[in-house]
Order: sequence, then structure tokens, then C-alpha cells
Amino acid sequence: MIDQTPPDLNGGVKILHDPVRNKGTAYTEAERDALKLRGLLPPRVHSMAEQELRVLGNIRAKPTDLERYLYLIALQDRNENLFYRVIMNHLEEMMPIIYTPTVGKACQEFQHIYRKPRGFYLSLQDRGRVKEIMQNWPHKDVRIIVVTDGERILGLGDLGADGMGIPIGKLALYTACAGIHPTQCMPLMLDVGTDNEKLLNDPLYNGLERRRVRGREYDELFDEFVTAAKELFPGVLIQIEDFGNTNAFRLLDQYRGNTCLFNDDIQGTGAVAVAGVVAAMRITGDKLSGQRILFLGAGEAGIGIANVFVAALREEGMSEDEARRRCWFVDSKGLLVAGRGSIAAHKEPYAHEHEYIADFADAVKALKPTAILGLSGQPGTFTRAIIEAMANVNVRPIIFALSNPTSQAECTAEQAYTWSEGRAIFASGSPFDPVKLGNRVFVPGQGNNAYIFPGVGLGVIVSRSRIVTDDMFLAAARSLASQVTEADLERGRVYPALSNIRQVSALIAKDVAKMAYDNGFTDREEPEDILADIHKYMYQPVYPHYA
Ligand code: NAD
Repeated sequence: MIDQTPPDLNGGVKILHDPVRNKGTAYTEAERDALKLRGLLPPRVHSMAEQELRVLGNIRAKPTDLERYLYLIALQDRNENLFYRVIMNHLEEMMPIIYTPTVGKACQEFQHIYRKPRGFYLSLQDRGRVKEIMQNWPHKDVRIIVVTDGERILGLGDLGADGMGIPIGKLALYTACAGIHPTQCMPLMLDVGTDNEKLLNDPLYNGLERRRVRGREYDELFDEFVTAAKELFPGVLIQIEDFGNTNAFRLLDQYRGNTCLFNDDIQGTGAVAVAGVVAAMRITGDKLSGQRILFLGAGEAGIGIANVFVAALREEGMSEDEARRRCWFVDSKGLLVAGRGSIAAHKEPYAHEHEYIADFADAVKALKPTAILGLSGQPGTFTRAIIEAMANVNVRPIIFALSNPTSQAECTAEQAYTWSEGRAIFASGSPFDPVKLGNRVFVPGQGNNAYIFPGVGLGVIVSRSRIVTDDMFLAAARSLASQVTEADLERGRVYPALSNIRQVSALIAKDVAKMAYDNGFTDREEPEDILADIHKYMYQPVYPHYA
């Protein structure tokens, strides 16, 4: 007879299966006795550093980045402290795996690689009982929620519920780059259906089998979620992420005044790109007020950047109208000009009086911009002719190909440097390897939002600010630009090394928190030393002692 009694899962086994408390082979002899772990682990006690070596060996032996991603997610599910130690000690190597570009591939394959639930799902079926359901989340001190509805995942379009990889990845960066405690982070997917035929026809798709809803039903679900989040987790910061652009602008406008909420695609991208332009001024010796930017793509990212750029020019004394005239847009319908037909509200301020031009290359010739910024999700659109035209009218043309993932970038780093004979100041959204041209080596900067959102979030969370303002993003941009070293600039890089990111985030957080204290956005008393207060909060991936 087989004994049918269920196994006792409450002994040492339980702690080994809890990713927050699990230390694997690093439990000490005393802990093994106290926690009833004897026999459940191999006898040798390893240090965390030795465990890190084992993990690195495994990751590096994997044949593809997607395999590396799967390995890392499995580690995150098993032992969170070790996962963050590996990520933080090897950020430049790991970031492209846990975030763009690999996370994009993971989202595209999500229904096939799915193993274990991670993050929280709310769907249309949950309307009316969202608050009750959200209480199923195991952690009660949630300080930040990253929420997506999967409609515009990176530059990859509608991936429905399979977009869950994005909030998971973003929150891993909050922890790694700014020390937000992992148990205070909640990745959340609002499943409102998908218009992606391939997913709807795939029997393994994990989301609702229905087309996207819009209008009242959508708004009610979103509002129910925000209300429940605020009630269950008072003061929680909500980051809306990878929404389609109609909902993104609308929801931001609707909620930002009375909810601690921001949109990284609009505001975070705005700050990181403007920081790159500000730092580029230190190479060209020009002023921001002398810049004319031509954007390819007038969506969340493009308009978000223009809005922060206008705020920066206004801070320097320029009128709003004049500042807006420094920003020009070509979108899928050509040059954005007044009278071009019906123009979405977020683009309206940038529809200038000018003759209509259909083509981006012709717009470059006509407008002679000092900078072109690609945020169209259309690869190969910064052609050789366009980069040569930029190099003809600028000694140091600013060329940022910011579309993600790498496959969608408007041009590669090598193309930008080669076609401009090494004069381009180049940055991209996803990382590119250094480029050798003659005897010079160029290190392209990555205009990665991870330089901005973790620091802004950290400042908001620690100061307990009730709102997130545009001025906080401008302050973050200026702080980031000021942290680019002369050595970075010499190598052509307009962003600091990623390895300094914890320090970058802490300094951004200091400026953001200061704004919250100065403007009365918080009831918390200003600490004597804001930076020390921030450092005190920041999570470090070390094992606690249990005996
Ligand atoms: P979006 O959907 O809101 O906007 C896309 C824009 O591109 C629209 O204005 C559309 O009209 C335009 N467009 C599409 N095809 C075009 C074409 N052939 N020619 C000219 N314009 C065209 O998307 P978004 O949120 O603005 O993101 C756009 C891209 O920027 C994505 O690839 C995203 O990954 C990237 N992005 C990068 C960063 C970063 O590097 N830090 C941050 C955010 C977004």
C-alpha cells in the first residue's frame, strides 16, 4: 500500500521554497539545526560569493539570451537575494537579459516558455471584486506597482497578457538600480483582451481569448484597480507602462493630479533623452537654446521628450512658444504641420506653420536640425543619406536611435559613426557594442530609462510624496547629465557607466525628494541629511541570519 498522507511541507522544506528567505547551500551549520534543514541540503556550506560564481558559470554556458533569461527568472523564483546580487554585480552583462532587448523576445515567446506564475493578473472578468482579489497578493507593504495592459510592448506592438515580462523586468530594475525592496514591488497585468491575431489563434496563449475592450468597460476596470491599490497600499506609487498611446496620455492626464502616478514611456523617456542632449552640449560646446530637434515618431516617447525639452528651455528663460518651435516631428503621416488634418491632442502643440513635407529625409534637408531622435519603432529609417545630410550641416550631429529592442533601432551605432566619419554623437535605446573606426573606439551610450525611473521612484517612495511632477523629471535629467564624466564624453558616451547606477539613482532620488519636501507634497518631515536617509532605505542583497 502506498502511504497517501500528504508530505509535511511546514518543516525546513518550506523555507527552501520561499524565494525571499531561501539561502540554498549558504545556510550555516547553526541555521541548518535551527530550521530543520539537516539532510535537505548537501553538507558543504557555501558563501554567497561562491554561489554567485556557480550562477555566473551557468548563465555564461547557456547558448542563447532567452535561455539566460529563463535561468535568471528561475533563480529569482528560487532565491531572490542571490538573483539581485548577481544582477547588481554584473549589471552591464545582465541588464540586456532581464530587460531590453531579451525581455522583448521573452514576451513574444511568453505563452511557450511559461513555467511559474510571477506578478499579478487582473482581467475584465474581475470587475466588481478587484479589491478583494488584490488581497491575494502575499506582500502587504507594497510601495510601487508597475502596471501594463500589454498594448504597446517596447516597439513590438500588442502582446496582450504576454506583456507581463515588462512590469516584472522593470521592477527588477527598481530593486537592482535603486534598492527598492523586492517585496515592496508588485508587477501587474490588466488583461483587457488583445487584437493580436497570432495570440488569439494560439491555444497556448495565457490571456483572455477576446479582442481588446475600450471605452467605459476599460475605464471602469482601470479605475477600480487604482482605487483598490490606493486603499490597500496607502501612498503606493503607480507606474503605467507600455500602454497604447491613446490610453497612455489620457490616463496620465486624468490621474496624475490626485494619484501618485507617472508614465515612464512619456516622462521617463523624456528625462533620459534630454539628459543625453544636455550632456552632448558639453561635447559640442553649444547651448540647449541653440538646438533644433527633429523627431521621427510622435508617440508617447517622442512627445514625452519634447515636453521635457521645452520645460528645460523654459527654465533657461525661453518662452513656451519659442521652445516648442525647437521641436519638429515626422510621424507615419509625414511632417507634423498646422492644418495637416485631424491631429491628436498630444501632438497639437508641435504642429507648426510650415509647408507639408512627406518624407523624413526631405524634412532633414529643409529644417537642418542639430539633432535627430528616432522613436518610431521603424528599423533602418536613419539611412546613410540622412546621416550624411546631418553631418553636412553639423560639426557634431546628435543622432539618437532610441527605438527598442535592438531590432527596431532606426540605425546601428556602426552606421551612425561610419556614415558621419566618426562625428556623430550617438545614443541608442538598446545597447550596442563599441565601434572601432580607424584607430578610434567609440562607446555608444544607452539612453536607457533605467537611468531615470528607479531614482525618481526611490525619491518619491522615501519622501512619501503624494504626486509625481514634471519638474521632478527635469531635475532627474539635469542630475543625470551632471553625472556624466569627462572620460565618458571623451569616448563619445553621453550617459554614465551603468556600473554607477546605484549612485546615479540615489543622487536623482535626493533631488526628487527635496522637491517633495520643499513643495509640501508630503506629510513626512524633511530629514537632516536627505541623501543619507535615502541610502538607509536602499535594499542590499545580503542574506539575513536565522540562527
Ligand atoms: P507609440 O506607438 O506611442 O509611437 C510611435 C510613433 O511612431 C507614432 O507617432 C507613429 O506615427 C510613428 N511611426 C510609426 N511608423 C512610422 C514611420 N514609418 N515613419 C515615421 N513615424 C512612424 O510608441 P512610443 O511609446 O512612442 O515608442 C516608440 C519607440 O520608442 C518604441 O520602439 C520604444 O521601444 C522606443 N522607446 C525607447 C525608449 C528609450 O530608449 N529610452 C523609451 C521609450 C520608448
